[in-house]
Amino acid sequence: MLTRGRAIAIGLILALVMGVACTPRVRFLALRQELAALTIAPDAPPLDGLRRYRGVIHVHSNLSHDSRGDPAEILSAAKAIGLDFVMMTDHNNPKIFQRGLEGLHDGVLIVRGAEIGSEGDYLLALGIESFIDPAGKTFREITAAIAAQGGVAIGAHPNRFHHWSDPGLAGVEVWDLYDEAISDRWRYATLALDVLFSYGAYPAEILLSIVRHPARALAAFDDETRRRPLVAIGTPDAHRNVRIFRRLDPYPLTLHLVTTYLLAEDKTRPALLDALRRGRAYLAFDLLASAPTFDFRLVDGQGKSWMMGDRVPAGAGRTLRVFAPHAGRITVIRDGRVISQTDAPTLEQPVDGPGVYRAEVALSVQGQWRPWIYSNPIYVQ
Ligand SMILES: [Zn+2]
Ligand SMILES: [Zn+2]
Repeated sequence: MLTRGRAIAIGLILALVMGVACTPRVRFLALRQELAALTIAPDAPPLDGLRRYRGVIHVHSNLSHDSRGDPAEILSAAKAIGLDFVMMTDHNNPKIFQRGLEGLHDGVLIVRGAEIGSEGDYLLALGIESFIDPAGKTFREITAAIAAQGGVAIGAHPNRFHHWSDPGLAGVEVWDLYDEAISDRWRYATLALDVLFSYGAYPAEILLSIVRHPARALAAFDDETRRRPLVAIGTPDAHRNVRIFRRLDPYPLTLHLVTTYLLAEDKTRPALLDALRRGRAYLAFDLLASAPTFDFRLVDGQGKSWMMGDRVPAGAGRTLRVFAPHAGRITVIRDGRVISQTDAPTLEQPVDGPGVYRAEVALSVQGQWRPWIYSNPIYVQ
């Protein structure tokens, strides 16, 4: 028989279960509403003869052994998101150069490349023309072979990467979705609960719960860039092969999570690869908010300015300027150390000496500062 005490206890347990079950759904809906209300500045300071192109690097299709991704799905997702380019990086095999996507498709430029394993590390060989057989080659010989083909070599999976000082490396990923997901397995459990209890429409924001400030990779990047320039990018390592109760990594979501903006002359393969090689790039967690008008530059008193990737001789009267597309927390870093920070849409910081300077912008969402934009450095020598 149901006594009053039992009824209250059952009621409390039911309320608790319902509360736990509904929390992710409520949280994601609130997050979605807050993000939709953000306004992005429509204009950025103009670039001398260059334009900002937004795209995604490190994408796998069914030409990789561990992806069943249909190239048509990649193209339609890229078009729907409005990407300018996608750099494909199927696991290294000759079929990439016979059947892989390449060229302009409905306004999206596809640049062919491969992900090559060597000496315990992974490399993105972006824009290469033909198959590079890694057998019998050292890591150094592979980065040289990539450069010889006019390609750009990028170190992948930064949390486990060892070859930071390889002279043939043009850049590194400082954030890689796959690398992040496996670096902290505890998050599998919370992610699984979030997926289970956020029934109904797929919560695109679910992947944002994996995004954290990549402190470890940035520390290694800052350390290496004190010796020579490198370009930093962020990638989704999109495979379309993860399912926990439902598909977690469809292309419309992974290609929207983290993007790389390139400051290039035009939307052609040589121009985009050149921008990447020169460090004219920044990365943004686009699923939070797109960052088409971010700007980071060094200016002098006479109106001359330098952009990300530039090497600038030290001089008097110089100022760093950061322009965020939406008011956030702007941080300027010199040689790996924070030198100034402000909660505003812009920041100006006088430069009083040599150093490797870069900027970050975090966005306050649901009362929490979340990683959003990471510039590449300006090298004052
Ligand atoms: Zn893979
Ligand atoms: Zn990959």
